[in-house]
Amino acid sequence: MDTSLDDLDHDYAASIADRAMRAMAEQRIPPTPTNFAVWFQYFAGSHDDLRNAIDLLIDHNRPFDARINQDLFETYVAPQVSAVVVDTSERLHELMGTAKDFLATAIADNHSQIQAISDVAGQGQAGVDPKALVAQLMNELARAASRATRLEAGFAEKTRELDVIRDSLSKSEQRARTDTLTGLANRRALDEFLRKAQTTAEWGEPLSVLLLDIDHFKTFNDNFGHGVGDQVLRLMAKVLREKVREQDLSARYGGEELIAVLPDTDLAACTEIAERIRRAIAEAKITRRSTGEVLPGITVSIGVARYRVGETVTDLIERCDRALYLAKGGGRNRVVTENELDRAEAAG
Ligand code: GH3
Ligand code: MG
Ligand code: MG
Repeated sequence: MDTSLDDLDHDYAASIADRAMRAMAEQRIPPTPTNFAVWFQYFAGSHDDLRNAIDLLIDHNRPFDARINQDLFETYVAPQVSAVVVDTSERLHELMGTAKDFLATAIADNHSQIQAISDVAGQGQAGVDPKALVAQLMNELARAASRATRLEAGFAEKTRELDVIRDSLSKSEQRARTDTLTGLANRRALDEFLRKAQTTAEWGEPLSVLLLDIDHFKTFNDNFGHGVGDQVLRLMAKVLREKVREQDLSARYGGEELIAVLPDTDLAACTEIAERIRRAIAEAKITRRSTGEVLPGITVSIGVARYRVGETVTDLIERCDRALYLAKGGGRNRVVTENELDRAEAAG
């Protein structure tokens, strides 16, 4: 949950809770803890993406069924919970850093004080034995400085421990979103990216996807073994990742099906990228790592589609999949767009 929500005063929080409950009753949404978290955040107004997503659903008269409710929670509320864990560790780290600086200054002060007193003692004075007095004082201060040094070492160690915790938290966040074989985004990360991209696409910005499937991969596996097949799959993933931009998402959609989501990209630009991917793969030389033997070339078929305002991301991917299927039917090793699909489907 958004950390700022913790600071809400009682009456204001109660009024948000009340509005959330009433809206849920109106939309016939069961008041479960996860649904409540979604609607509380919606009325608290601290989460623009969530607000846009819900407003769009309301504008399009979509029923808030169990799947949509679950999606809203998983996309907009659950990730924030883990983000807060990371954020907490970052804040602790900051705090420790400040404390360390403070301590370092204190120790430096201490050292210079000892030096100053020692200088005075060196000069010597009449009357009471100032040397003995100063020596005693120095002892005290030296002990204080050594305590502070130990404390500083302790602080430094804690800071390192916190660094490790923070690293492992962000790595496990990353792992939960990555496909282990290809290193691409997994389905979970893809779903999340698509839903966010859909929100901006609803306002008219272009959004295109390309879906890629390896040709005759079963035969390839049968001939050269699953291990070599996996190696090929990793190579496809590498090509895909290299051909799309930083702001695009490349993901493993299924077994040997990869997908790229390209925000702010129209059908023509996406088709061009798909064509570059297809060509790069068809031209790649594949060798068996263990023996250096050159294996027969691999090709892929690719479907391309552009998001249509008002449709679901499932509609978009299904259309892209039909274009891919058409590419397979047309002889493979080719890119087919939804325009050709429309023409083919119109011709029956
Ligand atoms: P085509 O797509 O051209 O119609 O033929 P295909 O033989 O590739 O058919 P399909 O796409 O239906 O087959 C998928 C095959 O991909 C089945 C399986 O052997 C292989 N495959 C799926 N996932 C993996 C994987 O993770 N590693 C390997 N090595 N092979 C996989
Ligand atoms: Mg397949
Ligand atoms: Mg295939």
